[in-house]
Amino acid sequence: MLVTGGAGFIGSHACVELLDHGYEVIVVDDYTNSSPQVLARVERVAGRFVGAVYELDIRDRRSLSAVFERHSVDAVMHFAALKSPSASLKSPVPYYDTNVGGTTALLRAMHEHGVHRLVFSSTCAVYGDAGPGLLDESTPAAPAAPYGTSKWISEQILADVCRHCPDCTVLCLRYANPAGAHPSGMLGEVPSDVPDNLLPYVAQVAVGRRERLRIFGGDYPTPDGTAIRDYIHVMDTVEAHRVALDHLADAPGMRVFNIGLGQGSSVLDVVAVFSAACGRQVPYEIAPRRPGDVASLVADASAVSRAWGWRPTRDLGDVCRDAWRFQQLNPRGYREDGEGYRAAGHDGQPPA
Ligand code: NAD
Repeated sequence: MLVTGGAGFIGSHACVELLDHGYEVIVVDDYTNSSPQVLARVERVAGRFVGAVYELDIRDRRSLSAVFERHSVDAVMHFAALKSPSASLKSPVPYYDTNVGGTTALLRAMHEHGVHRLVFSSTCAVYGDAGPGLLDESTPAAPAAPYGTSKWISEQILADVCRHCPDCTVLCLRYANPAGAHPSGMLGEVPSDVPDNLLPYVAQVAVGRRERLRIFGGDYPTPDGTAIRDYIHVMDTVEAHRVALDHLADAPGMRVFNIGLGQGSSVLDVVAVFSAACGRQVPYEIAPRRPGDVASLVADASAVSRAWGWRPTRDLGDVCRDAWRFQQLNPRGYREDGEGYRAAGHDGQPPA
C-alpha cells in the first residue's frame, strides 16, 4: 500500500491502522507540514516497520515513478495535500499546484505502472455554505475557498479518469472534520504554524502555549452564534479507510462517501467538552469571522454505513480526551521527540 502524505495527521494514523492489519506500507511525504519523527512514532505505536519512506514531492514525477518501479504497489491512499481554507484564500495557486497537480502526477505514475486502485482524501468543504442540517453526497458542490475547489476539481478529474479507464477504481472519501489523536498519546495533530483547525488550537491554549482561543465568528445563524462542524475522531476516520480497502473491488469506477459523525458541535460546545477533559476552563475571545468559513457543515454519513456496515464509534468526548492526552505528552509537538512522552514515564517501546 502506497500512502502519500503518510507523515501527516490523518496519514500517520492511517499507517498505524494499516500496519496493525498486516499491510505493507510505503510512505511518500515531503514533510511540508510534518516531520520524519512522525514515522518513527508510527513504527513504535504499531510495533512494526514501515516498508520504506521516501522524502519527495509528489509533483516530482521522476522520483514518484521510481517508487512505483522499486515496489509492487497494489493500491494508493492519497492524503498528500495542502489543507487550509484560509491560507488558500490568501495564496490559491500553491493549492491548485499541490492538490490538483499532485493528484494528476500521482495518477500518471499509477497509470504508467498499472496501478488502478485509489482511496482519495476529499473534504466536505466541497459543499461550501450549504446551510444547516445534514449534507449528503448529492449536495451540489459550491466550495467557499480555493482549497475546497482544488479538491472538487481533483474529484472531477478522478471521475473522468474512471469513465475512460474500465480497470480504475476510486473511493473518494469526503471527510467532515477529523480530530483527536491516537489513544496511545504518541500520534496527534501537530500544525507547523498557528493552528487552522480548532482542536489543536484549543489544546495549545489548554497546555499554556497560547494565551486564549480566538473564536472566529460569534454572529453566525447558529444557536450560540459560533460555527458548527462535525468532529469525527481521527481513529474512526482511518478505520473507514481500512474498511474502504475491503470494498475497493466491489465495483469499478468512482464512488463518493461522506465520512463524518453526523452530529454537529459548535465551537463553544467544543470549548466546553475540552474544558471538562482537561479540568480547567479554556479561555477564549470572540474575533471577527474568518473569510472562507461557513456557518454549518455537518455530514450525513449514512450512505457509507448502508454500503459497508461501517459507522463511527467515538464521540466528541473521545476526540477531546485523546487530543488533550496527546497535547499533554507532547507539549511542543514532535519537535523534541518524546520529551513529554518520556517525562510521563513511558519508555518509548510499543504498547503491549
Ligand atoms: P496534513 O497536512 O497533516 O498531512 C498532509 C501531508 O502531506 C503532510 O505530511 C505534508 O507534509 C504532505 N504533503 C503536502 N504536500 C506534499 C507534496 N507536494 N508531496 C508530498 N507530500 C506532501 O493534513 P491532514 O489533516 O492529515 O490531511 C490529509 C488529507 O485529508 C488532505 O488531503 C486533506 O485535504 C484531507 N482533509 C483533511 C481534513 C482535516 O480537517 N484535517 C478535512 C478534510 C479533508
